[in-house]
Amino acid sequence: MRDEGAKRILVTGGAGFLGSHLCERLLAEGHDVLCVDNFFTGTRRNVVHLLGDPHFELLRHDVTFPLYVEVDEIYNLACPASPVHYQHDPVQTTKTSVIGAINMLGLAKRLRARILQASTSEVYGDPEIHPQTEGYWGNVNPIGFRSCYDEGKRCAETLFFDYRRQHQLETKVIRIFNTFGPRMHPNDGRVVSNLIMQALRAEDITLYGNGEQTRSFCYVDDLVEGMVRMMGTGPDVTGPINIGNPVESTIRELADTIIDLTGSASKLVYHPLPPDDPRQRRPDIGMARKVLGWEPRVALREGLMRTIAYFENVLAGRP
Ligand code: NAD
Ligand code: UDP
Ligand code: UDP
Repeated sequence: MRDEGAKRILVTGGAGFLGSHLCERLLAEGHDVLCVDNFFTGTRRNVVHLLGDPHFELLRHDVTFPLYVEVDEIYNLACPASPVHYQHDPVQTTKTSVIGAINMLGLAKRLRARILQASTSEVYGDPEIHPQTEGYWGNVNPIGFRSCYDEGKRCAETLFFDYRRQHQLETKVIRIFNTFGPRMHPNDGRVVSNLIMQALRAEDITLYGNGEQTRSFCYVDDLVEGMVRMMGTGPDVTGPINIGNPVESTIRELADTIIDLTGSASKLVYHPLPPDDPRQRRPDIGMARKVLGWEPRVALREGLMRTIAYFENVLAGRP
């Protein structure tokens, strides 16, 4: 028997970067966790330390197929997140976002379970307003290389709100801004993992475009805290709510910080900017502050130091 208040919680994409940290957190709170993942970008290695826990279960399953399990809450994170990964098989990316959302909402409807969608700042596309507030409808190219992810995630949000209106489901949507930390895939092509790996290997550091585009980087522990707080809100809180760190930096500043922290001899080299790459991104987190009492606590340098230590272990072959 579990403690009173313990729930059975499904985390889709639970063997990925964010999902593995969320599973850890939920187990630490005394819940039973069912981690579902098809290992497209996630790995068993990310959750291997949890496998001995009797309250943890790992199931290989693709969310584009129906899933019949019994749980109280669902965090829907299954979807590749790095542009390199989600553009590898764009049709599958759209299927994962849209059909995956339908299946998980169907599951939530049968169980009357509360369900949270991990949406993204990419729903704002290349934003024309800055910082981005939840009321902004976005500037998204519907037919470009990023569209499978952006439009897939937008459609998933639509489904969450329509299941709520049509079937009275308790749905919640958070929009996650660039998040980094240990267990990012070293070869996922995202800027933090790329630049740290390059710095540690003393390879050239690749800046796309002129490096003046901006992002706002949130440390994973802060993100997980925001996600759990959102799930804990009352039935009237639907979101979407931005979760991210409002401290904005250019990609060149990020590179300089990583070189500084690693003491690397790497040099900066410039590559063409990928198509539709957003020029600027920063969350307005006023709503998260007000509704969730949440704001990030880990500063970029501190988060980068922890992430660099993780990648040093990866390179040294240490578990
Ligand atoms: P990730 O690639 O590490 O994790 C995604 C996980 O989903 C992987 O374990 C992958 O194997 C799994 N997956 C993919 N397709 C699946 C399918 N069809 N069925 C079952 N599992 C599947 O990425 P992440 O950074 O941990 O992102 C997790 C979620 O958060 C994603 O939904 C992503 O869109 C969202 N998000 C992340 C960020 C970020 O900066 N990390 C930003 C915005 C949104
Ligand atoms: N579904 C699932 N698990 C369940 C219930 C439903 O995977 O426990 C899937 C099923 O594939 C279904 C989808 O969720 O097609 C949507 O369910 P919903 O009840 O909304 O629609 P319908 O069953 O009418 O297609
Ligand atoms: N980027 C870069 N060098 C790299 C990888 C990415 O300059 O080696 C840039 C990329 O063009 C984008 C920013 O860094 O402007 C963030 O890229 P990432 O793929 O991490 O996330 P997203 O574009 O989805 O925010």
